Order: sequence, then C-alpha cells, then structure tokens
Amino acid sequence: MAEFPVQPAVASRAPGLVGHAPALEELLASARAGRLGHALLVTGPTGVGKFALLEALARGLLCERGPAPACGACPACRRVAAGAHPDLHRVDPVSEGFAELTIHFIAERENRPSGAFSGVAVEGFLRLVAGEGGWRIVLIRDADRMNEETQNALLKTLEEPGPGVLLAMETSRPSALLPTIRSRVVERRLGRLGMGEVAEVLGRVAPALATDPSWLRLADGAPGRAVGLQACGAPQALELLGQALRGSGDAPGLVKALLEVEGEFPGRTDRARDRERVRLWLDLGLELVRDLQRLAAGILPEELVHGERLPGSAPAPAALARLLEAWLEARADLDLNLNPASVLERVLDTTLTTCSARSRRA
Ligand SMILES: [Zn+2]
Repeated sequence: MAEFPVQPAVASRAPGLVGHAPALEELLASARAGRLGHALLVTGPTGVGKFALLEALARGLLCERGPAPACGACPACRRVAAGAHPDLHRVDPVSEGFAELTIHFIAERENRPSGAFSGVAVEGFLRLVAGEGGWRIVLIRDADRMNEETQNALLKTLEEPGPGVLLAMETSRPSALLPTIRSRVVERRLGRLGMGEVAEVLGRVAPALATDPSWLRLADGAPGRAVGLQACGAPQALELLGQALRGSGDAPGLVKALLEVEGEFPGRTDRARDRERVRLWLDLGLELVRDLQRLAAGILPEELVHGERLPGSAPAPAALARLLEAWLEARADLDLNLNPASVLERVLDTTLTTCSARSRRA
C-alpha cells in the first residue's frame, strides 16, 4: 500500500469519525474501566482515519464529561479545538514540513543542528505537571517516520511514562517500528471503510472527489488516501507508470516527467522532497504490478483499484515475476538511500524491456 503524506487537514475537517465510532467507544470504555494502559498503537491503511481516531480519543479523554465522546462545548473541549489544551501534545512531522520524525521531536538535545525541529519535545512536555489534573496525552502521527535513534529515545518514555500519561501513535507500517516498541504498546487495527463511508468523508473534505467514481475507487477504502494522492499529483504519475507497463516510452523521458509532476511533498530540501516523491511513485508502481498479478489471476479490471490503468491483458507469469521483483528491489534500494532518480530509471528500464518485448510478441 502506498505510503504518502496525507494532508493533515483531513483529520480535523472530518470530525464525525465515519466508520470508526465503535473503535472509539471501545477505547473510551477501556478508559472508564481503568484499562486503557499508557501506550496505544493504531495501525491500518494510509488515510483510513487512524489519526482522526486518536484525535477523537484525546478529545473524549480530556472532555469534562469524559471519558466519553467529547461534548464539544465544555471549556476543555473548546481548548482542544483551539489547539490550546495544555495536556495535549501532537507530534505531526509532515504538517511541520519534515519528512523524518527526528529525535528532536522526542528528546531534548543541546546540539540541535540548524533547520532541525525546534518546537517542544515530548520529553519536555511530559516534564510538566498536568494542567487540568487529568490525562496528559501525546499523539504521534506517522510513527514509522521515526529512525532507530528516535525510537530508542521514545522507548525511554514508554518504559516510565509517569502517571496519567497516554502515548498514542499511528502508522500504516507497523513493521518499521522496533520490536521493543511494539512489545510495549497495545495495538488496534482499523480496517478499510465501505464505499459509502468513503464518499461521506470525502463529501465533507473534498466534495469534488466524492462524486467521481474513479477517485472513490482510488481511495481503496481510505478517504485520506484519495485526498493525499490528489495533493501529490498522483493521477498524472499513474498515467506515466501505466504507460511504462504498456511498454511505451523511454526510461529517461519517463523519469524526467515523473520528477516534474507537480505536487506537495514533505521535506526541508529539494533532495528530501525528491526522495518522498520517488518513494510514492515506487509504491504506486508496485500497486499497479500487484493489480496486474490479480488481473492474471482472473480478477476483472473493474474490481481492481487500478483496473482502468492496466494493459488489456496481464504479462506471462515469468515476466510478471520479473516485474514484481524489480519494483520490490527498487523500493528496497530507495530505503538504502541510493539516488532516487537512478533507482527510478533502473526499474522503469526493466519494466519497459519486459513489457515491450511482450507487446512485440503479441
Ligand atoms: Zn467536553
């Protein structure tokens, strides 16, 4: 599933928590029974509403009538809505313009490089006494953006959280977290929403997408995914990637076009933003190849997320295996910090060779 920077505004603009009310009620019931624990990890597809659930949980715990769904009217609820509640701390690297959740978000370090996150660290927030005498809540968005150093710093907090503290994180890639972190959190997985629920959320946050069947399909059960993909210019990139799978074009030309697609990507430098951009194109390429596999297995194009972008017929099994291997390898190479443009060019080259040979045979 593609990893991409979902626009942070989605969570706050969709206060109804469509589809996840039962999960919220379950968590609030645990809190009422004193069984919530102090560390929670919500997992599930990108853009499905994981951070919206965490926000709703925080509101429900801090509300004067809580733990219960937030009333929205009491002074505590109003402070949360204004972003001014002293007992709620959000760690949201992407909305701060960072692609990485560096240690400066978590721990206080004396030698902070210039350009690093300079706001309040989790450590500093937790040293303060609860402003209103109840919960002190840290919400961490995109926890998989923490590198190992950052995760180890967070581990210290997870080991001795202090009274009344709740550390609640979300990620679509739990495998990116250290086993030592995962063993200390309670995991809760959110599933995809139905098409009607996706349309309901999009109707509030991006009405133009809500009425377009191809966007509803592209959302793949996660409304934030559609919004994020739109902001990243994904339709244009998918067009180019689909072209490669039909064996048409040349790799350097496609790379140039893919690097020039207009879109919003997190990162402080062009280099960081390019890496994020290529990471998304690789994830989407992998999605297309996986849909080709499904096509080969007999699933109808109209039942596939990318059905309309695929070649009319699937490649032979050996070619399909070669494609999948090439895209997985490219994704791994990018994680190894290889040059994004070269990684992209190599995988497109393999794709074009594999797919144009096929079309010549056909
Ligand atoms: Zn309230």
